[in-house]
Amino acid sequence: MDTELNETDVAIVGLGPAGATLANLLGLAGLNVLVFEREKEIYPLPRAIHFDGEIMRVFQSIALKEEITAISRTGLKGMHFVNAENKTLLVRGGTGLKGPHGCANNYYFHQPHLEKILRLGLKRFSNVKTYLGQEVVDIIQKNGHCEIEVYDRKNHRIQQYKAAYVIGCDGAKSFVRKKIKSQSIDLGLEQPWLVFDIILNDELASLPDHTVQICDPSRPMTYCYVTQKRRRFEIMLLPGDNKDTLIESDNLWKLVSKWIRPEQANIERAAIYTFHSLINEKWRDERLIILGDSAHQTPPFLGQGMCACIRDASNLAWKLLMVIKDEVANKLLDSYETERSPHVRSFIELAVKLGSIIQTTDPAEAKKRDQELLSNPNNIFQFPSPKLGQGFSAGSDPLVNTIFPQPELKSGLLMDDQVGNNFVLICKNKTLLQDILESNIENAKYLKLNTTSFKTLIAAEHPNVDQWLNERNIALVLIRPDRYIAAASKSSKEMIGHLLELNESLQN
Ligand SMILES: Cc1cc2nc3c(=O)[nH]c(=O)nc-3n(C[C@H](O)[C@H](O)[C@H](O)COP(=O)(O)OP(=O)(O)OC[C@H]3O[C@@H](n4cnc5c(N)ncnc54)[C@H](O)[C@@H]3O)c2cc1C
Repeated sequence: MDTELNETDVAIVGLGPAGATLANLLGLAGLNVLVFEREKEIYPLPRAIHFDGEIMRVFQSIALKEEITAISRTGLKGMHFVNAENKTLLVRGGTGLKGPHGCANNYYFHQPHLEKILRLGLKRFSNVKTYLGQEVVDIIQKNGHCEIEVYDRKNHRIQQYKAAYVIGCDGAKSFVRKKIKSQSIDLGLEQPWLVFDIILNDELASLPDHTVQICDPSRPMTYCYVTQKRRRFEIMLLPGDNKDTLIESDNLWKLVSKWIRPEQANIERAAIYTFHSLINEKWRDERLIILGDSAHQTPPFLGQGMCACIRDASNLAWKLLMVIKDEVANKLLDSYETERSPHVRSFIELAVKLGSIIQTTDPAEAKKRDQELLSNPNNIFQFPSPKLGQGFSAGSDPLVNTIFPQPELKSGLLMDDQVGNNFVLICKNKTLLQDILESNIENAKYLKLNTTSFKTLIAAEHPNVDQWLNERNIALVLIRPDRYIAAASKSSKEMIGHLLELNESLQN
């Protein structure tokens, strides 16, 4: 055992997409971060292939949008649920056009490519140190800090570290989750599926150019157009399937013989996963916090599991920064779970509902399902855009806890690029801003008004912002660093009240 204790602000356990995004956000914000990852290499098996516009906006906030755009394809047609006769039952809409987040609403990608970019991104920060092949084997909370024991898989030594906070981004089998004794709640779906990726030798016009959920009761399966020549098949296991033989290449080709022949492509990887629908009931115990798959897991029918992890990171990062750097009350960290838990739950519940549509294997039930869905002319739905649960917000305006869009400003810049990862107060005109600045608002020191890390925008100077406010009959909006609306009001007096209330909640 090494007795030297390396100290840091935040230790992150696990360098999957959740840990890597959080480390980039904290690194950019200037916190000292240590990241421990058990494996030497990026996880190579087929996993996420889709993320949405809100997630690209988080990548923009860590200045990796360009690199991630280069490895992604924007979605054109969304996801189509068809029955055994190839009749469309239901469509999740999709478009490659610019959406409310200032970018496309659907992106398709290969998870290891994305993780590589996130890891390269960390090299920009001398304040972030990454340790690969290092497994966290114990964490002890002491007075005001955590002590962490890390096992080096190569030299078999144990090293100790000390961190103000430890964030468990350690995936579905999370060690940190066990440490905080957090119980999982099962939302009702648990089913093994075979997942495999192929690389086409040449483009194949007969394959669909979008995701298709094949709701065939004799063998439910999913086909996905990922990027360029990469395609994904996901196949539900049925009673009687032999897991060991099903995954053999001859059998894989047989399962997809309707679409493709072995001489047209190479199988890249195949794996059997059990899809889960779980949410944990406790995400924090003092200085230990769980984030990403360690806090929740969703079946992939909406392509939203990793998206939820990245939303978690975006929600928690600015709160950690304020608690550690600005020494605001650490109860702010409680809002991470109260806000994020109901949000992710609504995505999981919808994915479970979609799962029950596609996973129907009883022919009579499938017939009934088809009749019901085919008789509905409005069979298109979009991703939900739920509100955050109650946490760091003030007032009861319906806009509170929703995400603010990303309009283009007069300068031609997208809003987030102009304001950075800061609080932003939008006022319809200069007089309203003047009212705020002339009020007794200097007392709101925790929000850091009147400093460079608190930005203001005058809507009248930016037609897109002004239009947004006018359409909602609102004059002032307070946006948090994760782009969610903390307060909205029609008058400066009302907003001053909200600012003081929020500031008070940050006082130790
Ligand atoms: C078939 C499939 C399809 C999917 N499709 C989509 C999709 O289209 N869109 C989407 O958004 N999501 C999708 N997902 C979900 C997505 O892949 C996961 O939600 C995401 O990878 C979880 O990220 P994470 O960082 O929380 O966990 P992980 O990626 O699992 O990373 C956890 C890391 O922690 C490390 N670790 C664990 N314990 C320790 C320890 N004690 N010490 C050090 N390191 C440790 C692990 O080695 C691992 O690298 C899909 C998943 C599957 C299986």
